Amino acid sequence: MNLAELKVPGPTRTALTAPFWAAAAEGRFTLQHCADCARWVFYPRQLCPHCWSPRLQWRDASGRAQLETWSVIHRPGHPGWAPAAPYAIGIVRLAEGPTMLSHILAAEPRLHLPLQVRFTQVGAEVLPCFEPLT
Ligand SMILES: [Zn+2]
Repeated sequence: MNLAELKVPGPTRTALTAPFWAAAAEGRFTLQHCADCARWVFYPRQLCPHCWSPRLQWRDASGRAQLETWSVIHRPGHPGWAPAAPYAIGIVRLAEGPTMLSHILAAEPRLHLPLQVRFTQVGAEVLPCFEPLT
């Protein structure tokens, strides 16, 4: 299944998340990094969840992760995803620390599978999906 052919809704963009999606469109994986406690933050926020600092800055991240859990979707919640089923979504633990929910491009997902980001055209959007590390 070519995910680019799907007719699915894309992510909701806000002023806070716009830098993440702009970088993704350029093929860059970017996360917020706290200038005070030096920890990485995802999802995008106005305050660091670790130290409450407002000094969060966007930085390019490694795009490396490990699979923490996943589910194989046979009956999608949105009919636009039906042509792609079955497919896997999962929680990945980013090398920088935070977790992210994403599409998992792996034929055989398994616990702690090493992954790397793969920017993928999904419908009209470029989304950061994860594939096995090569
Ligand atoms: Zn902080």
